[in-house]
Amino acid sequence: MTKLDINSIQKIFQKRAPNSHKGNHGHALIIAGSKSKIGAAIICAKACLRSGAGLVTLNIPKKERIALFSSVPEAMTEFRGEKKNWTSFNSFAIGPGIGTNKSATNLLRLLITNVKIPTVFDADALNILAKNQHELLNLPQKSILTPHVKEFDRLFGKHDSESERRITASTKAKELHLIIILKGHKSFITDGEKSFENTTGNSGLAKGGSGDALTGIITAFLAQGYEPLNAALLGVYIHGLAADITLETQSPESMLITDVIDNLGRAFKKIQ
Ligand code: AMP
Ligand code: MG
Repeated sequence: MTKLDINSIQKIFQKRAPNSHKGNHGHALIIAGSKSKIGAAIICAKACLRSGAGLVTLNIPKKERIALFSSVPEAMTEFRGEKKNWTSFNSFAIGPGIGTNKSATNLLRLLITNVKIPTVFDADALNILAKNQHELLNLPQKSILTPHVKEFDRLFGKHDSESERRITASTKAKELHLIIILKGHKSFITDGEKSFENTTGNSGLAKGGSGDALTGIITAFLAQGYEPLNAALLGVYIHGLAADITLETQSPESMLITDVIDNLGRAFKKIQ
């Protein structure tokens, strides 16, 4: 297992070309949010935009659009349940705050049927997969699963220790051709061949919304053309680094994920 340090991250990171335009940086589609959980979609989209995606479209219920337009005017929208054309997107994420009811399950199935490029599956998407285990075999190859401990155990069975979970994560990543990020303090990232342990982040992230931001960040890197494993490594590292920078002005208690997103810029400056 390799510890993720700044040197390895600097090697992965690709600088933006001075003459680039938005079309060079990819268009991400994020399927997130529902009636009482539109904040998850807003956080995810903000983090994605702050991580370099050229364009971000959010799939949300139409009724929630005002909240979105006022807090992330840079994001575009498509409305849940309307006919979709998903051929032009360069990356996809599904899960934060979508719920696990029948329509959310159908939406996940629609995505798996239509999308063949690596996708980020997080939060409720993982809970839906836990209840529909056979779908794990149908995910696009090299997709990224981002479970925290509880989601991980729902997906792959109860474990007694973190070391056991890490072994299962590696086995399942290899068997299913996926990248698995087992989130927590010192998140573990594996593609089944190689494994990494993150060294950034702090307990200020132990709060609702932190994982939604991570999903947005990784989706931005996929949109920009990073290999899925590199997108996962870079995403986990910079998410934690932005949280560590936030400790300069906030305490772990007072830190909000929006503060962390605001500090992504300072984190990017450190890894260049
Ligand atoms: P979620 O539980 O989905 O909101 O995700 C929480 C995010 O915050 C993950 O990226 C975790 O790795 C990170 N996180 C939570 N608690 C800690 C901690 N004590 N130290 C470092 N990172 C943490
Ligand atoms: Mg989460």
